This record gives sequence, structure tokens and C-alpha cells, in this order.
Amino acid sequence: MFEPDAIIEITPSAGVSTARHGWRAKCLQRLVRMDLPVPTSFALSADAVRAIAAGQMPERSYLAAMVERANGLVSVRPSAVDPAWGGPGTVLNVGINDALHRRLVESHGQAAADALYLGFVQAYAIHVARLDPDMFSDSEGGLAAALRAYEAETDEEFPQDPARQLAEVLRSMARAWDGPTARLLRQAKGAPPIAPLGLVVQDMALAMGPGVTGSGTIQFIDSVTGTPRITGRFRGQSQGRTRGAGAETLYLTRDPRGPSFEEAAPEVFADLVRFGVAARERLREEMQIEFVVTDGRLSIIDATRVARNSRASVRIATALARDGIIPPAEAVMRVEPRALSDLLHHQVDPRAPRDILARGINASPGAATGRIVFTAAAAQAAEARGERAVLVRRETVPEDIRGMHASVAVLTERGGMTSHAAVIARGLGLPCIVGASGISIDTRARTLQVGPRILHEGEEITIDGTSGEVLAGAAEMLEPALDDSFTQLLDWADDHCRIKVRANADTPEDARTARTFNAQGIGLCRTEHMFFDDERLPAMREMIFADKPEDRRLSLERLLPMQRSDFAALFEIMAGLPVTIRLFDPPLHEFLPHDREGMRELAESLDLPLSDVTRRVEALSEFNPMLGMRGVRLGITVPEIYDMQARAIFEATILASRNGAPVVPEIMIPLVSARREVELVKNRIDAVAAAVRNETRKDFTYRLGVMVETPRAALRAGDIAEHAAFLSFGTNDLTQMTYGLSRDDAGRFMGTYVGQGVYAEDPFHILDCEGVGELVAIGTERARSRAPGITISVCGEHGGNPESIAFCLRAGVNYVSCSPFRVPVARLAAAQESILMAREAAQNEPITKS
Ligand code: PEP
Ligand code: MG
Repeated sequence: MFEPDAIIEITPSAGVSTARHGWRAKCLQRLVRMDLPVPTSFALSADAVRAIAAGQMPERSYLAAMVERANGLVSVRPSAVDPAWGGPGTVLNVGINDALHRRLVESHGQAAADALYLGFVQAYAIHVARLDPDMFSDSEGGLAAALRAYEAETDEEFPQDPARQLAEVLRSMARAWDGPTARLLRQAKGAPPIAPLGLVVQDMALAMGPGVTGSGTIQFIDSVTGTPRITGRFRGQSQGRTRGAGAETLYLTRDPRGPSFEEAAPEVFADLVRFGVAARERLREEMQIEFVVTDGRLSIIDATRVARNSRASVRIATALARDGIIPPAEAVMRVEPRALSDLLHHQVDPRAPRDILARGINASPGAATGRIVFTAAAAQAAEARGERAVLVRRETVPEDIRGMHASVAVLTERGGMTSHAAVIARGLGLPCIVGASGISIDTRARTLQVGPRILHEGEEITIDGTSGEVLAGAAEMLEPALDDSFTQLLDWADDHCRIKVRANADTPEDARTARTFNAQGIGLCRTEHMFFDDERLPAMREMIFADKPEDRRLSLERLLPMQRSDFAALFEIMAGLPVTIRLFDPPLHEFLPHDREGMRELAESLDLPLSDVTRRVEALSEFNPMLGMRGVRLGITVPEIYDMQARAIFEATILASRNGAPVVPEIMIPLVSARREVELVKNRIDAVAAAVRNETRKDFTYRLGVMVETPRAALRAGDIAEHAAFLSFGTNDLTQMTYGLSRDDAGRFMGTYVGQGVYAEDPFHILDCEGVGELVAIGTERARSRAPGITISVCGEHGGNPESIAFCLRAGVNYVSCSPFRVPVARLAAAQESILMAREAAQNEPITKS
């Protein structure tokens, strides 16, 4: 039945624990231990609540004793293990009946007594007797009408026995916790299927009556900015939703707009501030305090963790650690890694109204407002006019890169987390929404249709890449917040991190961003992005059109100095940090024009008949280019491309080493599936290195690595590792090939698949630990068994995703590499997992992150 300690008074030494009695009971005990004026409170354990839900009830006399103390009124509040799990609504003034009402009329006046009684009758009728809320929620008829309605509906008098009232309230709250809605809601917040609930019964501090009397909340930090500021409210003659005669809301602190609580009760206000400072130190957290003032006497009835947005969470955690209240490692654990990406970009102000036009996949965070354009050329023209453009496309292709550079945000109808638009936007730090399937683009009419609304080119929209919402017009924004709290938190994170975090950077601009965010090197430079430049594309196309190796070499010679200077710039910016350059990866047809007009222009520039160009373009087209002549397959069949790139890398190495420490470039071969591929490419690169050494009479070393992005490469990682200094898992392609799922088309049905629980998450977004993750683990293990010192990393988009980073860290990778703007998130996520692992090692058991 009921254990002896099933219900205990919350005293400084009582055995109250969060696991048994919930966070609220534990928090109240901490306040009691601080000697704050907390009304007498009792904690019901989760076992007791479970027994009550099952129909058992403590002795009537016991319940009566709990209510019939002090003023004969109590409140009942939920106390789950985690406040985020919610719970049934608080019920106030349990114990009020006709007799007590009469006494209250004498002591507090008719209006206050009526309001208190009516408030309880309403709550009891709706939540306990489950009567129609419409009959009780409006109080027009007053107390008498509510009591009459209760009697008419239940055929019995409103319960007068305080013990029965308490028993019924406890029972209804215990049962509400087990209801399907409550269960689904809390599971969505991470609660386990069987989550315990404690309850707290507390003497009521009356917020109606003579003198300065009322209830309020106070907090000492701004929930949006995280800066110290007293905010809250004080409602005179008000308790919960019940407002008595003469109810008025006061500003908490002195305010030119009207009377304040600080002026009305200066001593009580000073006590509150003192208690707030003490609570922050003892509870090691910024708290919102709920209080009641009864004729000038202060009671602290509850305290909860201050609600906060991302920026505030960083500032609060850092300030607590700087003030010596929590250790730095604790501050690192308290900030949700994803919150950091909100700080890097503009954000739509959470307080501002939103006119939502459409929703899609939130592919790159941040928010921006601009005018709609439908082509890359229009975006560039808008930029030239000094206008802010939002590029709206069905999907983007490599030729759109310059248009993306010229835009403030990107919206596409198709695509998923690793589609072209998503990857490039994340690299550029542009807000981006992809796969917005509810929109329809008419490029001829230059309109965007969203439901019944038609938007024209030039109209203003806001892209909220954090939430995935497309908003009409210009939304109010919060500025980025890369302040010293942000830097400090990440410095602490690095102190605890077991792996390194590098950036995927293709351009000097990316590399500079990577350095700003303290990336510890470049883990992936996708060299093909360098060829889309106006200056380079003609040489590239000429190379593609060359029939003979000599002609090809001549075109490549034109590209060589450009690549050399690209690499030299990256080496210089990274100043001694490792730089991994991936050899050419995409199929060649990506560099060719796709429409007739483009082919005509190309024919003109190459001085060839149009038919030759069309034929060549057709000859290069493949049924399945992503599984065709790309990556190392191209490197082996058209080896001059890799020769040129290797030479450019080595010559840049010599150039960059002149001014500082010797550069040791890392060269990476994409799309490998067989050990022989690595041998062939390695032989040629070694030969190029020898030639460059001979010609320049300068020595240098380099590291050759392999991208593991085909399932076969992961399975044969042992063989491959014998020829490689490092392996880098390209989890984008590895996911695509493991699932047999096109990364550019998956957006179309991903929503349905995730919605129906086929996939728990989009596997291009969060690493599929069971399947793709197993390949990562197998590959790592096999590689290390043959080459124990080999460096292993992940450079797919998962390298910037907190859950995936946690998995990779445990799988034993040495570093992850992600888009520069995701580096801060990755540093924090990697540090958190490292701290958890260290704690586990100390305790010798796994800990789950809360
Ligand atoms: C990958 O496939 O994971 C990768 C990093 O390469 P890309 O995205 O360029 O194919
Ligand atoms: Mg790849």
C-alpha cells in the first residue's frame, strides 16, 4: 500500500529526491534549505501517485490533517522528474467550503472570498468532475450560479469535506498523467514511456485581502538576450487566473509608465532581489521565482528554470561558470549544440508575428529578407544594383553558384539535406530551405505560387532557414551574437574535446570563415567548385572536348596556374594547419551546357560546329552519372586531370612553405571502391611529386588519403588502409549508396517516410547509426587492424550534426569535418560527448545525455 515515506513534509533534511519526488519537490527543498519563506509543503512520491491512480488513497484523517492546517487551504502541483515533461495543471485553494468561505468573507471581504471559492469550484468542476468547461469557465453568474450548476449537473452538493476534495484532486491529477495526450506530449519532449510523476501539496499563501497583496513572478535575466535585467509582473488581488476586486497589474521595477511593485513594497522587493541572487548561487541556475505577498508578507511558492532562447542559454551558462557557480565543463554541457548556429546568423525575432507562406526542409540556418528572383543572373543583377535577392529555384545546379553567392538566401522546391543547394548554402552561411513542396514556380511568368497566393519577382519574402519557414514580407530580426560568451564557451569546449574539428572549405573565403570559428584544419576541399568560375570554365570545357591526351594536357596547363594559386591561398590562410584537397570528383558533363543556347555559345568559343558539340555532350551523358564516370574512375581513365591537380598542389606547397613552416598537403582520392584504384593513382602522384622535386630542387612530403564513400571501400578498408595515410568517410555518398537512395531526389518522399516511421530521421541529415554507421565502425576497425596509426575522419555533412558526431567519436574517428558555419556546433557537440565519455570512464558505466 503506501510506504511510510510515501508522503513527506519538505524539510531541509527530508529524503526528497528528484527521481522519486520530481524536480519541483526537490527544488522546493533547496529553497527551504536556503531558509526562504516557503509555505509548508508535502511531497508525494511517484509510487504514491501511481497507487492513487490505481484507486488507492491515503487515510482520510491523514489527508484532512494536510489541509486543515494554517488557513485550511492547499494547492496541488505536478512534479515530474524533468520540468519539460509538463504535467496536469495546478489546482489552487483545495479545502474551501461554505464554512471557510464565511470566515473568509469576514477576514478578507465578500469579493475576495467569492473569487477564491469560485476559482476552486470552476477548477473542480472542469478537472475533477469533468463537467462541460463551457458551463464553468465564464464566471458571469458568480459563485452562487457556479454552485447551482454543479449541483444540477452532478445531483449532489459541492463537496464540503476538505479531505474528500483533496483526495479527488489528487486522483484526477494522477490519472490525467496517464492519459494518452499527456503521454504523447511528454514523450515528444524526451520522456520515457513510463515516466514517474510526483505531486506537491502546499499551504496556500493568499493573494487576496487587505494591504499589499497579490502574486507575481520575477526573473533576473532577459530570456531573449541573456543579459541581466529584472523582468516579471505583480498582480495585486490575483491568484492564478482568479482576479479579485481591485485587481491591478504593477510593473515590477520603477517605471515611468505607471506604478510599480518596487515602489509599493520596497522592502519586499529588496528581499525578492536578495533571494534571487541567493537562488542563482545555490540552485546553480537562473531561476524564475513565483511569489505571493499577503498583506506585505512575502512567500516564495515555486521556482522554475528561466525559459530561454539560444543566445540567452549561451550567456547564462558562461556567466554562471565565470562567476564560479558551475565548472566550465558543466557550462559546456548546458548549451544545446544546435543553439550555437542561431548565434552565427540573423534570426527571426521569436517575439515578432510570422506570416507563414510555406514550409520546407531547414537546410541551412539563419534568416534573411530579400526580393524574389528566379535565376542566378537575376540574383547577380540585383546584387549589382545593391538589392538583396532571394534565389528561388526548382533546384540549383553548379552553374547557379555565382547566383547563390549574390543572394541573401535560397529557396528550392526540390532537394534534401545534401542536395546541391543545401550543401553550397551551408558552405556560404546562407539561410536555405529546400524541398518546399508546397510551392510552385513558374519561371516564364516569374511567379511563385503558394496555395492561393501568387508572388511576383521582386516581392519581398523572408527565408527562415532555422525553422524551414518561408515568410511573407520582411520579418523582424535579431542580430548575430558572436560575443565573448560564445568564444569563451567554445574555448572551454575545446579544452575537453577528444577529437579535432576541421572545416570543409573550397575557397579562401570559406577558409577564412573556418579560421574565424577555430577549425583545426581543412578536412575537405572540393576542387571541382573552383572550375565554375567564368575564367576557368572555358579551359575546363576545352579540356573536356580534347580528343587526344596532348590536347587535354595543353588545356590543363591553362588551369594549372589557377589551381596552384587556389591551393597556395588556402595553405597560407590555414598557416600550418592541415589542408586536405580532394581530387576532382564529379562527372564531366556537369561542366557542359544543358540548353541549346549554351551549346551554341560553346561551339562558337571552341570554334567547332554545333553538331560536334551536341554529339560530344550526348556522348558524355550517362544514365546514372552519380554511379558512373566520376571520382577515381575519371582519375584512372583520364589521368591528366589528377596529374595537373597533384602538380598544382605540390607547386603551391613549395610556394607556401617559403614564408613559414613547411606545408604537408593531404591529397584525397574520391569514390574509391578497390585497392588497385589507390595503387594506380598513388603511383602517378608519386611520379608527379618526384618530377616537381627534380624540377624545383625542393623537397616536400605529402599524405595520400582515400575517401570511403562506397560500401565496398568500407568493407575493404583493411586492404585500402595499407596504401593510405588517412581514410575519410564521405557519409553523403556512403548513405546514398548504402540505402540506394538518391541524395538529390530523396527530399520528395523523405517527409512521408519519416512521418510514417519508415526512417526515424532523414539519413542524409542524421547518420543512420545502424546501417551506414555500422559500415563506418567496420571500416574503422578493419583499417586500424591493418594500419594501427592511420588517421580516420568523417567529412560528409554528418560531420556537423551533433548526434552523428557523438556516434563517430565513439566509433574512434580522429576528426570530423563540416561546413565552416557548422564548426562551432561540431566543437560543442564533440566536447559534450567527450565529457560524457570521461564521466562514464570515471563511473564505469554508460550515461545517457539528458
Ligand atoms: C560525401 O560524399 O560524403 C562527400 C563528402 O563528398 P560530396 O558530398 O562532395 O560527394
Ligand atoms: Mg562524395
